[in-house]
Amino acid sequence: MEVRNCKNCGKMFNYIGKPICPGCEKALEEKFQVVKQFIKDNPNASINEVAEENEVSVNQIKRWVREERLMFSESSMVGLECESCGTMIRTGRFCEACKQKLGNSLNSLIEKPKPAEPERKKKEAARMRFLDN
Ligand SMILES: [Zn+2]
Ligand SMILES: [Zn+2]
Repeated sequence: MEVRNCKNCGKMFNYIGKPICPGCEKALEEKFQVVKQFIKDNPNASINEVAEENEVSVNQIKRWVREERLMFSESSMVGLECESCGTMIRTGRFCEACKQKLGNSLNSLIEKPKPAEPERKKKEAARMRFLDN
């Protein structure tokens, strides 16, 4: 049995393929349910508002969206960029067009390097400023 430190609280726990301990995982799951309900009740809330109101990080919300566990409504201003072409999407990682394209060449997707991180961060920062104003 492998023992690791929880990425969230730092406690030692028996590693079973997840970076956080069972206690934190349970807390995160409860938070997820709260956030999900909040988005349902406030379909036009921005991702920053959702984060603030629920005391959860924007990155965590994005992670849930990428995992297709959360989805913002059609009328919402919130969007994520398709990881392939940059089109705004509501959930997941790719837009419908890219999903189809990628579906046709799934093997090349695995070989494909990730987009340069600094470039994406810059774009994200620019959008955050836009949302703040
Ligand atoms: Zn923990
Ligand atoms: Zn795309």
